[in-house]
Amino acid sequence: MIRHHRIEARFVTEVPRDLDSGVLYISTEYGTAVHRCCCGCGQEVVTPLTPTDWKLSTHGNTVSLWPSVGNWNLPCRSHYVIRRNRVIEAGPWTQGRIESEIRRDKAAKASYYSQQAAGDASAGAQSTSHDGAQVPEIAGGWLARLLRWLFG
Ligand SMILES: [Zn+2]
Repeated sequence: MIRHHRIEARFVTEVPRDLDSGVLYISTEYGTAVHRCCCGCGQEVVTPLTPTDWKLSTHGNTVSLWPSVGNWNLPCRSHYVIRRNRVIEAGPWTQGRIESEIRRDKAAKASYYSQQAAGDASAGAQSTSHDGAQVPEIAGGWLARLLRWLFG
């Protein structure tokens, strides 16, 4: 069940310690979005905004987050889609679906970052941007925590 059917986007530099329910905190600086689980359980849900995690799009005053938010690592196991500030309940996750999602995520990250590495190598010493360097760390940390939870 979903208790918050609408979520308000709030652009912030730093995500506050105390989060309001029904608010999606978006930090473009840190490339991440955080909100309290829309089922009403209040758990913090972090959705990194990276090319292999979530994608945020804005339409006027409303925001959408894709793909769906699947909180299968939380006790509530809620699953919903945020589309134009509306929270749309999605189907429950099955174990098979979770496993295939983990495989997809791993494969997407592996192929994305190997392409990045190949690109960096060919760009050689001319590359002055180190922005990309912190992304695998964030994504890796998130994924590692999840995998530990699931299989540890
Ligand atoms: Zn929840």
